[in-house]
Amino acid sequence: MQTTLLFAFAVCFAAIAVTSTAAQDGRNAQKTEQQEQRMKFAIAIHGGAGPSSKQASDEANRARIGSMRQALDIGKGILEKGGTSLDAVEAVVIFLEDDPKFNAGRGAVFTADGSHELDASIMDGRTGACGAVAGVRRVKNPIRLARLVMTDSPHVLLSGEGADHFGELKQVELVENSYFDTPETRAKWEERKKQKLDNPQSMIQVEDVGYFGTVGCVALDENGDLAAATSTGGMTAKQFGRVGDSPIIGAGTFADNETCAVSCTGKGEEFIRRVVAFDIVAQMRYANRTLQESVQHTLRETLKPNDGGIIAIDRLGHISMEYNTPGMARAAADSSGRYDVLWSDAKETEPAKK
Ligand code: ASP
Repeated sequence: MQTTLLFAFAVCFAAIAVTSTAAQDGRNAQKTEQQEQRMKFAIAIHGGAGPSSKQASDEANRARIGSMRQALDIGKGILEKGGTSLDAVEAVVIFLEDDPKFNAGRGAVFTADGSHELDASIMDGRTGACGAVAGVRRVKNPIRLARLVMTDSPHVLLSGEGADHFGELKQVELVENSYFDTPETRAKWEERKKQKLDNPQSMIQVEDVGYFGTVGCVALDENGDLAAATSTGGMTAKQFGRVGDSPIIGAGTFADNETCAVSCTGKGEEFIRRVVAFDIVAQMRYANRTLQESVQHTLRETLKPNDGGIIAIDRLGHISMEYNTPGMARAAADSSGRYDVLWSDAKETEPAKK
């Protein structure tokens, strides 16, 4: 009898304990959900790491910030209407590729032999699918071709003539290589021609860095899907078919729904050596660091001063935009009303238009 009673008590006690643990779990889950509330959308853009806005005229500052704002409005508009993060990052990068103020598409820097070779990549954080092109010479919008490599080929990275030919087959818009020329990039190339070009290392010396102007975009959409895209003309006077980090998945670009989406800008060789974009993902995934901690750790501990900048968005919509160069043109918006367009100290911030 006594044993039966004891057993009944034990069962009751266990039931209460289980119920209260379940209730506690429920409360915890609720709390975590509240704490971890995901933005409906978030987007960040960079227009290249490089000099400070102080090194440019007011007019140049206004023009660059104006373009960044237009790019931000395009991406934000797509996400607000429920569009996908992939469509948003592609549209933003296409806009910036068409803008001659940036070192991507029209406005791409000159190679040593006086032409242009373009690199781009895109990644879908939901599926891990990705596509990239390197050294294309005739494709007006390399990011569009990178997306087609992702969706319409079994490959990840196509280069040179083969990539241009794939563009032809896919009927993307083709242009003469001279379409990418601008007077500013030509002047920079002329200047470089006067210097020694025979040492490949000279291209990436700190004092020669100048304005990078690469473009990139990361976004989170209402489905919780992340995407990243990057496009560049590379470095002025690059030679021997040099390829930077921008078309290298894991170095210049990465997206993973569980952690974050990343797009980098800076000295490509350093970003490739340190596998920078994936390094941010790995810190979040394996070391439990926040997005901001991961980005800062990479910029301060892994990269060297003046190497470049990083934009990233985590799965909840937190945004990080950091650089260790004097400046980085950048912009960000999210569903809470954030709307920032900045280039080092030149800043334009206003609430989102409802
Ligand atoms: N990362 C690019 C490259 O090395 C350049 C840049 O970001 O400005 O090709």
